Amino acid sequence: MSVFDSSFIKEQILKSHYPIALTGAGISVASSLPTLSKEFCGIPIKKIMEKSFFLRHPELFYSFYREILRWKDCIPNAAHVTLSKYGVLVITQNIDGLHQKAGSRNVLEIHGNLNYLICEKCSLYFPFDLAYYSMLPVCHSCSSILKPDIVLYEEQIHYWNRAVLEFKKADLALIIGTSLKAFPANMLPQFSIRHNIKPILINENAHIILDF
Ligand SMILES: [Zn+2]
Repeated sequence: MSVFDSSFIKEQILKSHYPIALTGAGISVASSLPTLSKEFCGIPIKKIMEKSFFLRHPELFYSFYREILRWKDCIPNAAHVTLSKYGVLVITQNIDGLHQKAGSRNVLEIHGNLNYLICEKCSLYFPFDLAYYSMLPVCHSCSSILKPDIVLYEEQIHYWNRAVLEFKKADLALIIGTSLKAFPANMLPQFSIRHNIKPILINENAHIILDF
């Protein structure tokens, strides 16, 4: 993978019949998401994001969830807008919803999103703002504690098969704002490499490089 400039990338997108992008936290940096410290209430964020932590300490998890709900107030930057404008299909590791806010219709949120709470027993979805009305939101039907619809450690990512398929179908793959450390999303570009497509890597300053 190499680093390319704006005009080259624009040309590639215009030439492409099926462009896709895999995006990570880096694409949203210029949207000034409130940054999280490494800990919340003295507990490492990585620990809080474990499914087993949520099951043991749901109230504390919800305090953390209300913190990250502030991300919903952020606005998309030029990189989100460009992907939307050129109809690039987006596979995102982000849960901030900024691709949809920028107008993208085809977005696979493989790590879930901040819009819903889910009852894992009934498979019912509820709006996120229940978390503002109740310390511990429960299912209206079965009274189970609801889980925010974000993918936690120890859980399967969403849309994996579809994401693999999209990488195989794509004739252009942009990898934006992700260091490709998170498994299994970091496996995805391999599927396009097998398809003889060389992914375009944009790790920093996506809002400048993709401003066209
Ligand atoms: Zn239920």
